[in-house]
Amino acid sequence: MLGQRRALPELAAHGAWDAVVIGGGITGAGIALEAARRGHKVLLLEQRDFSWGTSSRSSKMVHGGLRYIAQGDIQLTRHALQERERLLAELPDLVVRMPYVFPIRQGRFPGRWPMTFILKLYDALAGIRDHRWMSRDEVRQAYPALNDAGLRGAMRYTDALTDDSRLVIRVLQEAALEGARARNYTEVLDIKAQGDMHELLVQDTNTDNGARLTLHARHVFNATGLWADRLSGTPPVVRPQRGTHLFVAASRLPVRDCLTILHPDDHRPVFVFPWKGQTCIGTTDIDHREGLQDEPHCTPAEIDYLLKVANSELPALHLRREDVLATMAGVRPIIASGKGKDPSKERRDHLVWQANGVISVSGGKLTTFRQIALDALKAAGLIDAATHRQAHQGRHLRCFRHAVPSPHGLNDPVRGTASGGVLQAQVEWILTHEMVVHLDDLLLRRLRLGVLCADAGESLLLSLKPMCQLYLGWDEARWQWECTRYRAVIASSYR
Ligand SMILES: Cc1cc2nc3c(=O)[nH]c(=O)nc-3n(C[C@H](O)[C@H](O)[C@H](O)COP(=O)(O)OP(=O)(O)OC[C@H]3O[C@@H](n4cnc5c(N)ncnc54)[C@H](O)[C@@H]3O)c2cc1C
Repeated sequence: MLGQRRALPELAAHGAWDAVVIGGGITGAGIALEAARRGHKVLLLEQRDFSWGTSSRSSKMVHGGLRYIAQGDIQLTRHALQERERLLAELPDLVVRMPYVFPIRQGRFPGRWPMTFILKLYDALAGIRDHRWMSRDEVRQAYPALNDAGLRGAMRYTDALTDDSRLVIRVLQEAALEGARARNYTEVLDIKAQGDMHELLVQDTNTDNGARLTLHARHVFNATGLWADRLSGTPPVVRPQRGTHLFVAASRLPVRDCLTILHPDDHRPVFVFPWKGQTCIGTTDIDHREGLQDEPHCTPAEIDYLLKVANSELPALHLRREDVLATMAGVRPIIASGKGKDPSKERRDHLVWQANGVISVSGGKLTTFRQIALDALKAAGLIDAATHRQAHQGRHLRCFRHAVPSPHGLNDPVRGTASGGVLQAQVEWILTHEMVVHLDDLLLRRLRLGVLCADAGESLLLSLKPMCQLYLGWDEARWQWECTRYRAVIASSYR
């Protein structure tokens, strides 16, 4: 298990590591798991909290991606669908099948028959058959607020939803159970090649004196996503693209399925879906030109863009700015084509490359983390081509082999958050097993209350305080400091 965070010098007491993985998002977690599973002594280091980067800010979909198939990228879709089915089978509490409803309108692309053709192929690649036509009356009954203009019906199919941040924690727990070590708030500042070893300079980012340490590793994986260009030792390849989501109370925007609606201005698909008891709308897709050290935040124009599509497709609801409980901006590490394409048209696949013995990996999807990890291990020579092929294609290979008895409801991506004794059991588990360092780790990434509650969880602070003091050893001054820090993070990036 991840357990509590250990002191920095303990990392050096282990001697040289077989592999150090830099980056505690889904990509780094996947590499740590696949390497540890093969008997290697693995350490994962994350500069902030686990999943603090893009991996807690995605659209939370475990999917093949209809857009890739529409673009003719059958291989990427097939791989993603294979992983979707694996995750549905292995993590039923955390990855759940969701109906998706795509309204079809007169004279608008895509029409019923092109969609039927695409969905037949989509389901065939996944090895399922789970799509059908919904008549206009059926759609109107399910969504009385939906704009009626030109409505012919809808295509209904299925994909999957998750809690991305909890998925990262689950992969890290699995890696820990396979023997990997992980530490958050630990930044890698520099990597030097020394023969067939590497020397890494690391810094504790959680202490005032910023304690530093030198570590040694045979293999280094730079799985830092957006930040990959800083440590890769090669010319830059990453194009940061921001995507924003809005959270709205389910009572104001009730949806049972994941509704796909097209924006009236640019015809981009935007999803409206139920998530942990509230409704999420997203996403935008624009170049992110701000610095990468601060948490991303969205602009008023992005909020207007998302409210516009919601109000154009669900006009009866009259959604307003005041209905937005929280915003969440994430930045995609897109591998730049260098052709100055429209952000939405850039490909979403990953790239593995190397220089000076450092394997860098960036781009890709949450869904395909296992396959990205296998590609990285092959590039490092930790698995051969035959093993890679077998593991890549093996539909029946288990990724999650250990039971992690997390408390009831904690991982559920659809139902509402807990309260009372159930919430207390969840918090006690998290504080004991999930390496919480700051209050925002608990409220924004482990529990998600920061985006799901209108008050960002403020009213729960009194009941959380004794547990944080007991399990994390915080005194009154630390508790007050954590509350101030949390409020500042919420105000600057989530409201
Ligand atoms: C808006 C949006 C919607 C998306 N929707 C989906 C979706 O629905 N489904 C899907 O499959 N994918 C989706 N994606 C893509 C998916 O979220 C990303 O591909 C994935 O999260 C990238 O994970 P990562 O681990 O590579 O990067 P990250 O999660 O960013 O992890 C990299 C980590 O490295 C750390 N780091 C950086 N530098 C250092 C250093 N020097 N030392 C230590 N640590 C360091 C960072 O703090 C960060 O936590 C979406 C992305 C966005 C932005």
